[in-house]
Amino acid sequence: MKKKTILVTGGGGFIGSHLCERLLKENYDVICVDNFYTGSKNNIRHLLSHPDFELIRHDITLPLVAEVDAIFNLACPASPVHYQNDPIHTTKTCVVGAINMLGLALRLRIPILQSSTSEVYGDPTIHPQREEYWGNVNCIGPRSCYDEGKRCAETLFFDYHRQCGVDIKVVRIFNTYGPRMLPNDGRVVSNFIVQALRGEDITIYGDGQQTRSFCYIDDMIEALLRMMRQGPEVHGPFNLGNPAEFTMLELADLIIRLTGSKSRKVFKPLPADDPVKRRPDISRAQQTLHWQPQIGLEEGLKKTIAYFDGVL
Ligand code: NAD
Ligand code: UDP
Repeated sequence: MKKKTILVTGGGGFIGSHLCERLLKENYDVICVDNFYTGSKNNIRHLLSHPDFELIRHDITLPLVAEVDAIFNLACPASPVHYQNDPIHTTKTCVVGAINMLGLALRLRIPILQSSTSEVYGDPTIHPQREEYWGNVNCIGPRSCYDEGKRCAETLFFDYHRQCGVDIKVVRIFNTYGPRMLPNDGRVVSNFIVQALRGEDITIYGDGQQTRSFCYIDDMIEALLRMMRQGPEVHGPFNLGNPAEFTMLELADLIIRLTGSKSRKVFKPLPADDPVKRRPDISRAQQTLHWQPQIGLEEGLKKTIAYFDGVL
């Protein structure tokens, strides 16, 4: 039987590179598409010599022609620092990128998975967040390029499904961390670990009482594969994440303990529109995908710290 070819946009990024690696292990042909805006060739250097791996440097805001059997659409900067750096291009990546990839899926009649985000809930007024919740999003703030871009991408996915019958799979990813985040990524887990290992001040934004729920990368990859393997009647959206919830102060203290660092915690202004609380209700994913995270925060942080220790 012919091997299936999977297209991963954003395959040079943090989640994308782990997904490419896993797909190759499962004996798929993999085409990785990336413009390396936030990704790095180093993330996939070890895959470049693999006979079933191909890399295309390409920006998904431009049309792409390829013959593939499924698409994981992951291309988009995910760290607030980076997606706010060129907000117009962030919205274009979310919206025009989605139109281009959905057009390809429609032409080829293949399934396409969209990596949406917990940010579609904005600064949520219900807790934990369930998929039925419509969210509380500022449409003109510094996070809007990403939040509204991802919301519009979801709209496009569901309209391509309803209007044209495209087999869509939409997942809303909550904060995910692990090896291959870049040291300058700007997100909280990598920032705190890099600061702790370098003995620099740990930068807590605001009072540190805001919460997030952190999912280890291996758990997320498993969920993405399970979602793609669902039949055409399953579209989501499904929340994917680890429901264990921590304040940023708790996260900082845990990282200080695990690294044995002498770093001090310092307090910096809270960025605009920073969500106060975040925790996924993952019942839908549990029921349909028979999935739940297996790796707790301490175990995942130890692996991530070991990675950064090697890199720095
Ligand atoms: P990342 O920044 O490490 O990876 C994104 C990749 O997309 C990078 O390699 C980047 O160069 C590439 N890219 C960006 N714009 C592109 C474009 N226009 N054309 C082609 N490639 C482009 O981020 P990540 O954490 O791996 O996130 C992957 C996906 O998952 C993103 O869509 C993100 O929105 C989503 N997501 C991630 C998280 C998380 O906590 N990691 C949470 C929610 C959603
Ligand atoms: N944060 C922090 N210090 C940092 C980076 C982030 O206190 O050095 C906080 C940030 O204000 C937010 C949380 O950590 O409340 C998670 O931020 P991140 O950028 O990782 O992701 P978000 O969930 O906000 O997209």
